[in-house]
Amino acid sequence: MTDLLRELRRQEEKLFNCVHCGFCLPACPTYTRLGDEADSPRGRLHFMRAVVEGRLEPDSPAFTRHLDRCLGCRACESVCPSGVEYGHLLEGAREVAVRASPPSFLSRVLPTVMERPSLLRPAMFLARILRSTGFPDLAAQRLPSKGWLGQVRLGMGMVAATSHRPLPGTPGLPVRRRGTAKATAAAGTLGNGARTAMLLGCVQEGLLARVNRATARVLAANGFRIAEVPEQGCCGAVHAHTGDLEGARELARRNIRAFEEAGVETVAVNAAGCGATMKEYGHLLGDDPAYADRARELAKKVRDISELLGRPGLRVGARLPLTVTYDAPCHLLHAQRISKEPLAMLLSIPGLELVPLRGHEECCGGAGVYGITHAELGGQIGDDKVKAILATAAQVVATGNPGCMMQIGAGLRMAGAGVEVVHPVELVDESYRRGGLYR
Ligand code: SF4
Ligand code: SF4
Repeated sequence: MTDLLRELRRQEEKLFNCVHCGFCLPACPTYTRLGDEADSPRGRLHFMRAVVEGRLEPDSPAFTRHLDRCLGCRACESVCPSGVEYGHLLEGAREVAVRASPPSFLSRVLPTVMERPSLLRPAMFLARILRSTGFPDLAAQRLPSKGWLGQVRLGMGMVAATSHRPLPGTPGLPVRRRGTAKATAAAGTLGNGARTAMLLGCVQEGLLARVNRATARVLAANGFRIAEVPEQGCCGAVHAHTGDLEGARELARRNIRAFEEAGVETVAVNAAGCGATMKEYGHLLGDDPAYADRARELAKKVRDISELLGRPGLRVGARLPLTVTYDAPCHLLHAQRISKEPLAMLLSIPGLELVPLRGHEECCGGAGVYGITHAELGGQIGDDKVKAILATAAQVVATGNPGCMMQIGAGLRMAGAGVEVVHPVELVDESYRRGGLYR
């Protein structure tokens, strides 16, 4: 039992920071939907403390069920006046919960596939083949929304959401999917020639490679020197969020070795969930004498793409006359506390009209495979996001995380809406392409 609680005990004093004020309750998507204190941050912290103090068994349904319903969005952290580090506590508590009561098959599949390139590559290949048939798009629109078929429908919608479609209102001018375009000789000075590696990511490179290609082009156009890091792998975010901290540590060690070898000054990340995890490698490996310092060093070099580009000096491309709304990924806004930079990137694009999104700070219901494993609650949260997006009348929604792009894209497809979902860097890229900044 002591070993089972090791991670949570390590952080026990963090639990005492909660003063039970309840400020976090209105920010919590599960509490606002269910109205149950047990499904609030305060309630979940109460259960964690009861387990650490031996008043509640780690395999008790109260502990496992309410932790399982948490999205891990960390909106509670942003509003907590006592600075409770809910994200770290949740990861420790999830490790306890999954060891005491093994998670469902569906929850285990994703991390298992992601940590093994021998499974990841064929899985992504098959998903791309499936996507190319057009079946996922059809299934997202036609399958029933309830029962297991509803879960299949969402899964298909998520695959369909990664497909490439031309930007609305601009026939014949698609967002570049691939391409070897290089920055013009007159590359910008924002990057100052910094040797920069990109985290390619599992889903990002597997299904949304166009976002990685756009990122590389825009970085190069702004004077960053891109370095290849072939030995890099999964960042471990899904493992950490699902309670497999040992698995996350192993993946973090592999990445530390790979990025050290490359000798880069900066690691650019265009997936908010991955960036948040890499910035916390120091915490994850804090007890590992061989890696603790190296983990902190790598974490210091990690930057979300918006931190690198959303600042004065970003090159300006051609007009992109689109109405765009922005949804903030939880792991960018709440975990990394980055809010202005993605907006600055979008506002740098001439002709682009940015319209505010009600509830942009709330989770889209994606949270890994939450929408599939928690169909009803995830579906409710996702539907609210789709309604808010449609209310803006925007042609495009921009968000900087593959999970959010897929969840929101699936929701929009299931609603029969033609709103396109893109990463903010794709819009900058398209503006550059039209402006002749690539050769
Ligand atoms: S806002 Fe912070 S201190 Fe207040 S109840 Fe929530 S977690 Fe506890
Ligand atoms: S992480 Fe999100 S869902 Fe979980 S308790 Fe905090 S606000 Fe609620």
